[in-house]
Amino acid sequence: MDATLICPSCGAQYPEDDIVWRCRCGSFLDISYDYTFNPSQLKGVENFLRYSSVLPLRDPDGAVTFGEKFTPLHPMVFYGVPVRAKMDFLLTTGSFKDRGAFLMINKCRELGIRRIVEDSSGNSACSVAAYSALAGIEAHIFMPAGNSSAKTVQVRTYGATLHKVPGNRSDCARAAEEAAKDSYYAAHTWNPYFLHGTKTIIYEIMEQSLWQTPGYIFIPVGSGSQFLGVWLGLQEMRKAGIIGEYPRLMAVQSEHCCPLKHYLQGEETPELPKAPILPEGIAIRRPVRLTQIIQAVQETQGEVITVSDRDIVEALKASARQGVFIEPTSAAAVAALKQYRGRLTLSDKVVVSLTGHGLKASARMEEILENR
Ligand SMILES: [Zn+2]
Repeated sequence: MDATLICPSCGAQYPEDDIVWRCRCGSFLDISYDYTFNPSQLKGVENFLRYSSVLPLRDPDGAVTFGEKFTPLHPMVFYGVPVRAKMDFLLTTGSFKDRGAFLMINKCRELGIRRIVEDSSGNSACSVAAYSALAGIEAHIFMPAGNSSAKTVQVRTYGATLHKVPGNRSDCARAAEEAAKDSYYAAHTWNPYFLHGTKTIIYEIMEQSLWQTPGYIFIPVGSGSQFLGVWLGLQEMRKAGIIGEYPRLMAVQSEHCCPLKHYLQGEETPELPKAPILPEGIAIRRPVRLTQIIQAVQETQGEVITVSDRDIVEALKASARQGVFIEPTSAAAVAALKQYRGRLTLSDKVVVSLTGHGLKASARMEEILENR
């Protein structure tokens, strides 16, 4: 199907063959395209392409994939709250970002793009590097110099060129934008195709729930690429008459970096601390799509929750004691459940998103275990 890029700020439109990553007015772009969705017509194996009728690809059958399958929706209990944990850390590179990279890189391939630039705190860089390797696209990844070594090693091993940038995420984004002047800026924070890839998680959750809508979905939020993907998919399913009420979308952030909370309070988010933030994947001071995230929270009667490092460490250990090894960013979503202890039961149908694998943060885990 053909898609049109649309600016939600000034209304400008661009055909998808225009290789643009943001509007000339400076805003991010969304995409518009025709789709139909009918669960009774789903067929074939349980993989990303199962939902190709809602994916903006011209030739889904020609897409490159790792043969990804559904990730488990696994029953766990945290702080006495029974939940189903969506185990997206089991995707090929160890995080949910594979869903977004799958679609974004396949779209680059359809558009004939041979060289891309991406900036990331880690997981999306790994996903973009892996799918670029699969698609034969040259990837240049910009990462903050102090990030988890496991992720930088992973990116380099996939054959991407790694550019370590001193400073924080903003410095990194600026360096990547500069480098993208002679290639395509495939930034997961800006790219609407990335979000249409991450939305496959909510189609899976719904299908695994026999199309019964969960009551709550707890998601760690940095740039919001999973949160907004879930929101996109829910809106599509509502339009298609599959769901009535939305689940409450619960946006979880670190108390050391909580731009959503500051926005709701009408405050400027302060500069981030110099020391690395424990849930590094959500340490994003100015999410590009912040207003869309807030809209999703409000329209689903969700909440913005902040969690402490102490609670994140406790949540990590609580998860591992149930045999599930996740990274601190994922544990933030689990930690948020502590604030709902005694208030949520099985009938609330709580889903918590486990976004990234613990093996990606082994060095930090060792510090935690040794109380450093
Ligand atoms: Zn615009």
